[in-house]
Amino acid sequence: MTASFDPNSVAVGRGHFIGGRFLDLPGDEIAVLRPSDHQPMGVIRDGGEEAVDRAVEAAKAALKASGWSAMPPRERGKVLKRWADAVEHDAVRLARLESAGSSRPIAQTVGGDVFDLAETIRFYGEYCDKLVGETTATEDGVLALIRGEPYGVVGAITPWNFPFLTAAWKFAPALATGNAVVLKVSEITPFSVLAVAELAVRAGLPAGLFNVVNGWGHTTGSAIVRHPGIGKVTFTGSSGTGARIMADAALHGLKPVSLELGGKSPQLVLPDIADLDRVAGQIANGILGNAGQVCTAGSRVIVHSSVADPLVEAVEKRFAKIKAGPTWSEETDFPPLISLRQAERVERLVVETIAAGATLRTGGKPFSIGNAGSYFAPTILEGVTEDMVGFREEFFGPVMSLQKFDDIEEGIAACDHPTYGLAASVYTSDLARAHKVANAIQAGIVWVNHHGRAPEFAFPQGGFKASGFGKDMGRAAMEGYLRHKSLWINYAG
Ligand code: NAD
Repeated sequence: MTASFDPNSVAVGRGHFIGGRFLDLPGDEIAVLRPSDHQPMGVIRDGGEEAVDRAVEAAKAALKASGWSAMPPRERGKVLKRWADAVEHDAVRLARLESAGSSRPIAQTVGGDVFDLAETIRFYGEYCDKLVGETTATEDGVLALIRGEPYGVVGAITPWNFPFLTAAWKFAPALATGNAVVLKVSEITPFSVLAVAELAVRAGLPAGLFNVVNGWGHTTGSAIVRHPGIGKVTFTGSSGTGARIMADAALHGLKPVSLELGGKSPQLVLPDIADLDRVAGQIANGILGNAGQVCTAGSRVIVHSSVADPLVEAVEKRFAKIKAGPTWSEETDFPPLISLRQAERVERLVVETIAAGATLRTGGKPFSIGNAGSYFAPTILEGVTEDMVGFREEFFGPVMSLQKFDDIEEGIAACDHPTYGLAASVYTSDLARAHKVANAIQAGIVWVNHHGRAPEFAFPQGGFKASGFGKDMGRAAMEGYLRHKSLWINYAG
C-alpha cells in the first residue's frame, strides 16, 4: 500500500485542548497554511491570557483530583504506556496530520516520527519507576535524603520543525515525573499535537493534566512564561526567542527555564577517513534532512584539503539525487521550506553572504516543482568568514558553508562557533583523534563518523553557549522536571 495521501482528506480539530476537551475561546484568528501548497489547513485562535489561565486552572484541578504527583510512579507509567499504544494504533492518521501540516514527508512520519513519538512516551512510561533518589553520609540517628519533587504545572513552548518530537521530548518526561503540562505548539504547525493530546485522555490520562493552547508567541507563549501558576518553563526554538523567554521568566517569578535553541553545527572531516563516499553521504544527509530545517543541521563543513575536492563532488552528487515534492507524496525525501517567508529569509541570507565576499559553489536559489511550495536548492558556499551573516546566523535551510584546512589543529579550532554550541560531528579512522576532537569541541552533542540524531531515547539533546541549557531526552530530561529537596530526619529522639 502506498503511503501517499490526499491532504484534503485530513480532518483537523478546532480550538485549544483544555481540561480534556476542545475549547473554542475568543481570540484573533490565525490561518494555518499547508507548507507544501500554501492552501488553508485550518484556523486557530490566539488564546492569550484567557486560554493560558484556563489551562493552568485545569492543570491544577487535575493534579489535585487525580493525585498524579503522589501516585506510585508505576501507575503513572501504565497510563503513559497505554497512551503510547494508542499513538501507534492511530499511526497513519497522526502521520498524515503531521505531514499535511508541516515540512515532514509522509515516508518519514509514518515510518519514523510517529513511532519516535510513541516510543518517547513509552520510554518515559517505563522510566517512571526507575528513578532513584540519594541519601547523604551523615551521623548516626539521622537520615539525610535528597528527594526529587515535581514542579506542579510545567509550561512548554515548541517550534514548527518537528512538531511531534519537540513536544513529546517535553511533555513525556514532565508528566512521567508527576507534573501537569500546559503546552503552546507553534502557530505554524498546531494541529498534530492537539490530536495527540486528545488520544492521551482516551488512553486514561486524567483530563487536564495535558493541555495544549494555540496562539502567537508574543501573546499566548508569553502568557505561559509570565503565569504565576506555572513553576517551570521549557522551550525549544530560536536563540532570540529563548533570550526573551529567559528575561520574561526572570521578571515574572524568577522561574527556572530550560532552553533548546539554535545551532551552527560543524562537520569536521580529517584526512584519514576510510570511506569517502560514506562520509559524503553523512555530510549530505546532515544538511538535506527536513531541507536543513533541523536545529542540529551540519551547516559548516570543515574539511582537510587533501580530501576536499573528491568529497565535495560526492556530496554534490548526493544533492543531485534529492526527490523534492509535497510532504504527502511517498516519493518525497526533500520537502519544501515551512513557508514562503522562511524561503525568502534563506535566500536573503545567501545573497547577503555572497555580497559580503563568499563564493557560491552549488545551488543558491529557490526552485519550483509546479505547485506553490517554497523549495530551496541544496547550497554550498565557500569563503564564508566570521564577519558574514552566513557565519553568524542559522540559515535553517539546506545551506552549508565549506571551509578547507591544512593544519589539523586549525581544523579543530574552526569547529568552535563564537555563539552557538549545539552539535558537531567528526569523521576520522583514528579513535584517539576522535576522542581528542570530541573533548575539544564546545558542543552539547558530538557524533563521530555520523551526523544526526538516532532514535535513542536515553541520549540527551541540548546545547552549550547560545544553543541553550537543560536537556531534552534521557534521564537528564526527567531530572530537569524535578526540584530537589534536602530532607533531614533525626530519628535518635
Ligand atoms: P521561534 O523561536 O520563532 O518559535 C518557537 C516557539 O516560541 C513558537 O511556538 C513561538 O510561537 C514561540 N514564541 C515566539 N515568541 C515568543 C515569546 N516572546 N514568548 C514565548 N513564546 C514565544 O522558533 P521556530 O522558528 O518556531 O523554530 C526554529 C528554531 O528552533 C531554530 O532556531 C531551531 O534551531 C530551533 N530548534 C532547536 C531544537 C533543539 O533541540 N535545540 C530543536 C528544534 C528546533
